[in-house]
Amino acid sequence: MVDKKTKRDSAVSEHEAEKKVTINLECCVCRKYISGMIVQALGKNWHPHHFICFKCKEPITSSKFNLHDGNAYCESDYAQMFLKKCYGCNLPIRDVVVQAMGQNWHTEHFVCCACGTKLANQSYYERENNPFCTTCYEEKFCPRCTLCNKPIVDTAVLALGNCWHQGCFKCNNCNEPISDTSFELYREKAVCSDCGKLLRKLKVDTTAF
Ligand SMILES: [Zn+2]
Ligand SMILES: [Zn+2]
Ligand SMILES: [Zn+2]
Ligand SMILES: [Zn+2]
Ligand SMILES: [Zn+2]
Ligand SMILES: [Zn+2]
Repeated sequence: MVDKKTKRDSAVSEHEAEKKVTINLECCVCRKYISGMIVQALGKNWHPHHFICFKCKEPITSSKFNLHDGNAYCESDYAQMFLKKCYGCNLPIRDVVVQAMGQNWHTEHFVCCACGTKLANQSYYERENNPFCTTCYEEKFCPRCTLCNKPIVDTAVLALGNCWHQGCFKCNNCNEPISDTSFELYREKAVCSDCGKLLRKLKVDTTAF
């Protein structure tokens, strides 16, 4: 049982390409004047058909493009080549990358396998390669307390074949919490050692318990 937190970082290097109509500006690729539509990106002027993706060589038509090592890429090539893939859906992650269980995830795909709660930035448990929120994990896998029936997350008191919260395992006479090493049995009931001594001395009938 390990308490883990997720890490997040940002994936995309996204830039804006401005398109407008202008005259007398020189295309940085062909060095000819541009009349009509112009693309302004990376501090330069381009013919729309000369502003192309470094990989597929097609003109980049969307206003957003991505940059890698100073080269412009269309969205799909950039995603294929440089973005991390989500372990949940196997698609590129464009926004926040959640790193957990040694994998990368979309925020909305790193979720508790039992209830679907998002686990990014939360404590979670990992069991047989499945992530669980703390509530589901404790409900499913932690032992239950004999007294209050709630999951025992920290150290359980093991006594008389049962599990108890520390604090739920109490002396049947004085009702003070007892530990699994210091209790004793008086007529089959757990009592603290002080009460044990007292009861034996008085030989009290435990039907009153
Ligand atoms: Zn040109
Ligand atoms: Zn491309
Ligand atoms: Zn995903
Ligand atoms: Zn859950
Ligand atoms: Zn309890
Ligand atoms: Zn007692």
